[in-house]
Amino acid sequence: MQLRDGFLSRLLLETIYMSISTSVLSDLLQTLPYLRPQLYFKASLTALSHAMEDQVLAATLDAPLVIASFQRERFYRQEAHRYERLAQRSDQVYVLAAPETDFASSSEYYEKVAFDLEDALCHEWHLIVIAQNYATCLVCREFPRSANQDLQLRELSPNLDMDTARRFEGVWTSERGVSLKAADLLLARIQTYRPELANKINDVRRRFHIGKYNSIDVVTVQTSEYACDIDTDPFVQRLVTYLQASQYKLHKAYRSIAAQARKERLVNSITTTIRRSLNPQEVLHAAAQELGQILGACRCLIYRASKIESSANIEHEFIRAGITSVKGQTWQLDNNPLFAEVVQYSEGVCVADTMNDSRTSNSPVIWKHVEKLGIRSWLLEPVFYQGRLLGIIELHYCGNSPHTWHTGEIDLVKAIAIQIGAALIQAESFANLEELNSQLEALDRTRSNLIAITGHELRTPLSTIQVCLESLATEPDMPLELRQVMLNTALSDSERMRKLVQDFLTLSNLESGRVEWHPESLPLEECIDLALSRIRARTAKEDLPQINTDIADNLPLVLADGDWLVEVLAKLMDNACKFTPSDGKITISGRLLNNQMVEVTVADTGRGIEPNRLEIVFDRFYQEEGALRRTAGGTGLGLAICRQIVKGWGGDIWAQSTGKNQGSEFHFTVPIVTKTQESVVRS
Ligand code: ADP
Repeated sequence: MQLRDGFLSRLLLETIYMSISTSVLSDLLQTLPYLRPQLYFKASLTALSHAMEDQVLAATLDAPLVIASFQRERFYRQEAHRYERLAQRSDQVYVLAAPETDFASSSEYYEKVAFDLEDALCHEWHLIVIAQNYATCLVCREFPRSANQDLQLRELSPNLDMDTARRFEGVWTSERGVSLKAADLLLARIQTYRPELANKINDVRRRFHIGKYNSIDVVTVQTSEYACDIDTDPFVQRLVTYLQASQYKLHKAYRSIAAQARKERLVNSITTTIRRSLNPQEVLHAAAQELGQILGACRCLIYRASKIESSANIEHEFIRAGITSVKGQTWQLDNNPLFAEVVQYSEGVCVADTMNDSRTSNSPVIWKHVEKLGIRSWLLEPVFYQGRLLGIIELHYCGNSPHTWHTGEIDLVKAIAIQIGAALIQAESFANLEELNSQLEALDRTRSNLIAITGHELRTPLSTIQVCLESLATEPDMPLELRQVMLNTALSDSERMRKLVQDFLTLSNLESGRVEWHPESLPLEECIDLALSRIRARTAKEDLPQINTDIADNLPLVLADGDWLVEVLAKLMDNACKFTPSDGKITISGRLLNNQMVEVTVADTGRGIEPNRLEIVFDRFYQEEGALRRTAGGTGLGLAICRQIVKGWGGDIWAQSTGKNQGSEFHFTVPIVTKTQESVVRS
């Protein structure tokens, strides 16, 4: 609309606004106060409108006036093809809609009227058909629903189709007077938007006497002009079909709500049963019984299985009377195609009829079960927890005909599988917690023991030092040589205490995992040389037995923390020196054990170890002669420290000896540097 003059355009806009802000329904009700509006759901309005349109299409009406008003373009789009067909029957077809994308006022096929988004028509639904001896109209307005009401409705019935549940109030009638008045109001609205159609609109007004009556007249004409000369039977039939269709939809929705409710009830009852226990065996037993019974299966099996296991032990079973039990049997999983399918797709597998399924007939393993156990329908549902396969639920239906699954039954099994997964993990965590608890208790006991032992170990040298120093202090007349002896004893015992405290701290750091490891590629010989030089630095040469090294040629580099590797070697060599007379021999050798580890051996020809002591020499504070009668010094913590260090790089340490005076061998393993690690180190 081209508006030139400012005042005029404002006036026109105001007039338009005035005329569009009123509801057509309100206007109609105001003019015809005897009308009683009714409540309609959107589904009924759709059915009614379709039936009215079909009636026009089916009847031989002479160029009727058809006015349809849609709240939005999208609703019109679903019906556009019908209006093209309607337009073939009449040149007086008007379609109104609030534009969204393409809809615009135009005169192609029929008259399109794009109304303003401010227009009260946005909330209304109209369909008017006027012919010579036939008139009908549907004039409705939507009840606005707040976001809150929407939410409440959704919570009450999540399956409800929110669109079809939209509510309208209005009038549907075949009274000619009412239809003419409604047409009058809508034609006026059309003319507001499309003034250029004035002549066409006047034509139709004249033809059907629209706008001729005032409200009083309508009341008087309503009975006299009720006549209709077209067959309304098809209309009624169509209406019934549409209503039945929506009834069917409703019925389906109720059925799914009922199935959902049933499923929830069952899941709750099974969950309550399986959650009563924290014992995985009880959980699985209860689940098999409940599920088998509720789903009327002949056999319900639950067994533990993982993706890599090749067989499963059938631990839990529910069977109906007269059905063969398989409890306690071991079933092969690696050649079971149904299990393979479950693993491959991480989903359940359902064989509706084992007699007509290639998966069962082509697999000898499955076929054997089918024949022996009479399985006709078969369901395998995996029990997962966070992607980890924990087990399988199997339902067998035996009999002459395949089982018919009811709606939601398979979903129920799936829901239970989820619950079982969670219950199993909960039970497992509880068991782990108990295990952890007992470990903690054991640790606590060890700690108390350790404190007692350490206390004793520390008190012994401390008492000696105290006695020596007290004697020196209280007996000034003590001979010089004795004084020297006292001082030397105090000094050596304080040195022993220092070592003890140091070893004790090292061991507790290693045991509590507080040590930071810095693995590097090392040549074993270099570490042996370093350890040897340490020994040689603190022991007089003549006291040392002969020491040889025997390292295999081309021994690969080892991957370990250098400082700790030298520490282990030094401690083992130190022991070998301590327990081997100076005319004995010590040999340190290294060889490739497999393609991952090097085995290092420190062998001596010394006093040997009784075979029954070979393991306990690694205990803390173990010393053959007891701490008080030690001859060779040491803290009794050396081997315990070595074991912790070797464990740190994933190796093993062990002792070998054929007995007293037969010499001892201490072996340990260190990982070698693999090719990929080597290249990483190099780059
Ligand atoms: P320490 O040597 O400080 O006493 P260790 O933990 O290193 O403590 O050794 C524990 C005990 O194991 C030693 O006291 C000794 O009885 C025995 N042992 C260790 N190495 C040898 C060995 N090479 N020959 C014989 N006995 C050994």
